[in-house]
Amino acid sequence: MSKVLVLPGDGIGQEIIAQALKVVDYLNDNNDLGMELVHGLIGGAAYDETGLPLPQTTIDAAHQCDSILLGAVGGYQWESLERDLRPERGLLGLRAQLDLFSNLRPAILYPQLASASTLKEEVVSGLDLMIVRELVSGIYFGQPRGIETRDGERYGFNSATYSESEIRRIGHSAFKIAQKRDQRVCSVDKANVLEVCELWREVMIDVAKDYPEVELSHMYVDNAAMQLVKAPKQFDVMVTSNLFGDVLSDCAAMLTGSIGMLPSASLNKDGFGMYEPIHGSAPDIAGQDIANPLATILSVSMMLRYSLNQAVLADKIEAAVNAVLDQGYRTQDIAVDGERIVGTSKMGDLVVTALQEQA
Ligand code: NAD
Repeated sequence: MSKVLVLPGDGIGQEIIAQALKVVDYLNDNNDLGMELVHGLIGGAAYDETGLPLPQTTIDAAHQCDSILLGAVGGYQWESLERDLRPERGLLGLRAQLDLFSNLRPAILYPQLASASTLKEEVVSGLDLMIVRELVSGIYFGQPRGIETRDGERYGFNSATYSESEIRRIGHSAFKIAQKRDQRVCSVDKANVLEVCELWREVMIDVAKDYPEVELSHMYVDNAAMQLVKAPKQFDVMVTSNLFGDVLSDCAAMLTGSIGMLPSASLNKDGFGMYEPIHGSAPDIAGQDIANPLATILSVSMMLRYSLNQAVLADKIEAAVNAVLDQGYRTQDIAVDGERIVGTSKMGDLVVTALQEQA
């Protein structure tokens, strides 16, 4: 029996989580998944109800659960709040509280969606890359930070900081994943300009000594961005810092057709994980039943694989998603001319039907 904290959050969060829970309910009823769900608040929804984007009740519930399934946070109505009360701070706070330092962001191109990518089919077909992003340090967390007035004008500043142990543990995460894949790690940095990246590179070289069968290469982040759109299939595992990983993984997501297809896992050293789609709360399409729920459904499958030791059920979910795409159903973000467009809720139902048909 596993206990999972469900945090829908804001914007399309409620709609996409509802579809993922249809899949969980089906597997609970028909495949002995044994998942108990606990519901909680985060982000703008939590602020509206409690005055805080990350209430203590949510942190306490997280500590009592085996995993977290999150939708997304953020929205226009909370943008003018004091910085510490904004929805995104709730999410950053939860990642930090649980020390979820290892963010796995797979970018896999479903062959059925090759024509939905903005890149040529031959460049992206067969793409299967894993970005391992450090998630609880670097410039998003470094001190000092702020905006202050100096010499009569406003001055904004942040600090890009990494300790050797923080680099070492994300390095080990990446190498362990590469061992189970094509045994290649590309470490992305900006060591030609930034001292923090010089240290990053030195430590990665040292970590690599524990994995002689895995090949380590290095790339500057500007070149990595270029290579991702030029020849993305050259990469197996890419390991990088919080900021660079944020940007590169959105770029990698678009190679696959839509940000609405990609799940992610954020793990701590004990394998506790928070699972969420890589996209945000998409306020521009919230409440219209048009958001793609597949990234969230695939986040459940990642949770089963990486935290709950249920790889067989993870395979079933992935096969069901594949079957629905094979049948030609698309949400509007992944549809090209002439394809059958369905809404968020219908897409959730179709995945459940595909699970039933497997059985
Ligand atoms: P976004 O990912 O929410 O949206 C970017 C674009 O992708 C939008 O056009 C949106 O409609 C589209 N999109 C996103 N998810 C989709 C889906 N499932 N199906 C179809 N289309 C989808 O990023 P943004 O617009 O930069 O940010 C919106 C809000 O989300 C902001 O408040 C931001 O801070 C927040 N955000 C939250 C997270 C998170 O919760 N992990 C991540 C990124 C951004």
